[in-house]
Amino acid sequence: MKISAKAAPTTIGLDIAKNVFQVHAVDDAGQVVLRRKLSRGEVLRFFEAQPKTLVGIEACGTGHYWAREIAALGHEVASHGYHHELVYTLTPTQFREDVRRAKQAIEDAAGCVVRGYRAPSFTVTKASLWALDVLIEEGHEYDASIFPIHHDRYGMPGAPRHPHLIDRAAGRIVEVPGSTVRLMGANLPIAGGGYFRLLPYAWTRWGIHHVNQNDRQPVTFYLHPWEIDPAQPRFEVSRATALRHYTGLGATRARLSRLMTDFRFHSISSMLALHTATTRSQAPGLVYAR
Ligand SMILES: [Zn+2]
Repeated sequence: MKISAKAAPTTIGLDIAKNVFQVHAVDDAGQVVLRRKLSRGEVLRFFEAQPKTLVGIEACGTGHYWAREIAALGHEVASHGYHHELVYTLTPTQFREDVRRAKQAIEDAAGCVVRGYRAPSFTVTKASLWALDVLIEEGHEYDASIFPIHHDRYGMPGAPRHPHLIDRAAGRIVEVPGSTVRLMGANLPIAGGGYFRLLPYAWTRWGIHHVNQNDRQPVTFYLHPWEIDPAQPRFEVSRATALRHYTGLGATRARLSRLMTDFRFHSISSMLALHTATTRSQAPGLVYAR
């Protein structure tokens, strides 16, 4: 297998699939010097025979590109899983596969170590606490999946409201719960997402101030990229789902800018380092919970 003698390829693009691989090579001038279909068995032999050159291979869609770009800006890139399945609908084996695949994909793409995980829809609940063991075994240092509120799909209302350590059979993990305000005996969410889009901005601002000043604790805030995209395609969904997903999309970007000027934010990893340093020097450290 030789590329035509007329020009040496300087870039080879490899389109990967299951059985058939498409090769597309260009020279310095950008002229196509080869287009070829290879079977799986031919791929390595083909590249062995080529001069050393740049090889472009598709990876995990746009995910890799964005992960690298975002990591380069100094943000922490953590994991929200691969397929966005509710944890309590998975077996531990399925969950492990999903968690491992996501961590690996992000680390390969961003060149960073993934320390944190948040379950789709906060679905680490009483029924799926085993997920913490899987996360520890798969190398995660913190989890942000246990929301200490009442909700129809998730939540553990009795769980601690602030970052704490959890000891499990597999080891120890830091839990960084979605933030809440304790009001009249209930935990009310101020952590972002739908709560940020659906409720007035003043609620989030008041709540964050309250937690910072009364509880002397940091606040965890989250938002999906789609929540600042009013141009996203709309699906035929139930009224309740439409309310949860499509309300406030147009206003969220401006709200987010306001939040960024009203408060200072850190990545969770740096916050945990700060948090541990402060509390250790002042005494108690992170609280333990089971
Ligand atoms: Zn999500």
